Amino acid sequence: MEKRISGTTGLFCLVGSPVGHSGSPAMYNYSFQKQGLDYAYMAFDVKKEQMAAAMKTIKLFNIRGGNITMPCKNIAATLVDELSPAARIIGAINVFVNDNGKITGHITDGIGFVRNLKEHGIDVAGKKLVVIGAGGAATALQVQSALDGAKELSIFNRDDEFYARAEETVKKIQKEAPTVTANAFHLEDNDKLKEEIASADILVNATIIGMKPQDGQSLVDPSFLRKDLVVADTVYNPLKTKLILDAEKIGCRTAPGKGMLLWQGAAAYKLFVGKEMPAKEYQEYEQ
Ligand code: NAD
Repeated sequence: MEKRISGTTGLFCLVGSPVGHSGSPAMYNYSFQKQGLDYAYMAFDVKKEQMAAAMKTIKLFNIRGGNITMPCKNIAATLVDELSPAARIIGAINVFVNDNGKITGHITDGIGFVRNLKEHGIDVAGKKLVVIGAGGAATALQVQSALDGAKELSIFNRDDEFYARAEETVKKIQKEAPTVTANAFHLEDNDKLKEEIASADILVNATIIGMKPQDGQSLVDPSFLRKDLVVADTVYNPLKTKLILDAEKIGCRTAPGKGMLLWQGAAAYKLFVGKEMPAKEYQEYEQ
């Protein structure tokens, strides 16, 4: 590494708080090195109220681009010079690119979700999705699926502070992708969930349920699943949630969250350096 860093090395970074656990520096530095690119990637712990100063620093230091993580994704979207179509609709960014002082914000979580399904042989175009969740990951994948030609989206959320976001996302999809049928439902209505899953092609868990320390839990009764349903999860810790394990037992095609994480990172890499990330090589290296 010390031989790689020189006076010309361009810097990419992760901004948010906390960032110490992030796998992004390892993944991007591996990729830069593998492809012989004169870049390095560092993580900076930045709180929400420090984000405006961080954006000025990014310009001052000519940081080439990077990722934005919680809790800065929404505030960062208000501080960049331009937004990608999905980032504008969602009002959040997880990626920025600095083009000689002009910063564009992107959101690649939804792109990663769609690509992960594709890697498992499934195209969202023309499909009906039932998505449980209305937080950051859920909104990103709902909007991207709509932009990528999904036929119908049924969004379920429990009656918490996120339910209003489910309704908001439905309105945004109706405005921005009017050919897509979008509806929000209360997760407490289990009969409705069963009915919607029965006519869906793809079921997605985009809540924190199934994630450690709530592993071993699922919001979907296994009797609602059937063999020709595709089941995806955004949760990547554990690698297989209870929902994914239930679906595997029934014989469904499954797409766990780890792939979404990898492909959202690869989509960001493409925006950073204009090249495909050596994603599969990194996956093997990491294991
Ligand atoms: P968030 O805080 O924005 O949203 C949380 C969601 O969980 C909301 O819909 C909320 O209503 C729901 N929820 C919380 N407690 C619940 C309960 N007891 N019962 C039912 N629903 C409940 O979180 P987020 O950032 O969207 O993350 C959600 C999951 O997705 C996390 O596991 C996160 O690690 C994962 N994620 C994965 C990727 C990826 O690339 N694979 C990207 C982002 C997030």
